[in-house]
Amino acid sequence: MAETFRNWTTGELTARACDIRDRHWGRTVTYSRKVFVPLTNMCRDTCGYCTFVKHPETPEANILTPDEVLAMARRGEAKGCKELLFSLGEKPELRYDKARDGLRRLGHARMTDYLRDMCRLVLDETGLLPHVNAGTLADDEIDALRPVSASMGMMLETVSRRLTRKGQPHYACPDKTPVQRLRTLDRAGQKQVPFTTGLLIGIGETWDERIDALHAIEAAHRRHGHVQEVIVQNFQRKPDIAMARHPEPTLDDMLRTIAAARIILSPEISLQAPPNLSKRHIDYLNAGINDWGGISPVTIDFINPQHDWPEIRQLSASCAAAGFTLQERLTVYPRFFANRDDFIAPALHIRVAAMSRPDGLAREQCLEAGA
Ligand code: SF4
Repeated sequence: MAETFRNWTTGELTARACDIRDRHWGRTVTYSRKVFVPLTNMCRDTCGYCTFVKHPETPEANILTPDEVLAMARRGEAKGCKELLFSLGEKPELRYDKARDGLRRLGHARMTDYLRDMCRLVLDETGLLPHVNAGTLADDEIDALRPVSASMGMMLETVSRRLTRKGQPHYACPDKTPVQRLRTLDRAGQKQVPFTTGLLIGIGETWDERIDALHAIEAAHRRHGHVQEVIVQNFQRKPDIAMARHPEPTLDDMLRTIAAARIILSPEISLQAPPNLSKRHIDYLNAGINDWGGISPVTIDFINPQHDWPEIRQLSASCAAAGFTLQERLTVYPRFFANRDDFIAPALHIRVAAMSRPDGLAREQCLEAGA
């Protein structure tokens, strides 16, 4: 049976994790300056913790038009962003007429095909690198998106089938069946896509289920070598969600999970925790993270809209006080394009090379709120 770290103190866990982090990543902590584009806020799933999704019967439910996508992209570009993150609900057209009709007006039957076209538009019209976070994907969907996105992502969240039962957060969410998400994780590896995944902490999973999820990610990475980063994200209570009364994970719980992740995962996998979901986020540095993920100088965090991004210069100062240097990276990590080209689609090689400096981080480093 795998080590579950139950008998380790938090201090023992974090000390081991920081040792691994320091040996592989040093005292550099990175972030990606990005603009978030919520292509559609409709989704066929109904996760109990989600505020992003809007029911099709509400006026807020929408699909962004190409003009709206381009306007957001240009605002991001003007503020020095390098990455454009497309985030969207999962396959709303399979469930709702409003999504099907909206897509038809845009000339598509499938959200993935519209997403592919919007990635191409961004590549043609701006200097940004698209990263798509479209949830579970079939083989042909990954094939469609790979040539137009530098990297892709899908939070595994959990491997607990128990959480799909009635009364649990993933009840009646076909895309949250662990086997479906694990299949997407594997497919992305088979197709050599630099891939971001992660865990959602505190939605009712047990400690052992978290450890199992980390081992599942590590196993997929050992098969394919494609996992570029793992996010450890804490559940956030919000008044308008089904889990409004569910307790949030404690800081100690987060620190222990981050440290366990650093110990279980291969050291070349970047470990990330979001800086806007805890006032004590600087403590995550002492549990083994080396990355803050995406921070936008333009758009809000659409997944957790009640939590502002930290000001980047302030974050840099806080990192420095903790003994770390904040550096900007691209959406795709250096090891996927340094001395190899099998993980980057041919059309993106020149752009990635032009945007990166010799160590693979962003050539242009922006610490200002606007650039
Ligand atoms: S968390 Fe994702 S999959 Fe779940 S309802 Fe929200 S958008 Fe859909």
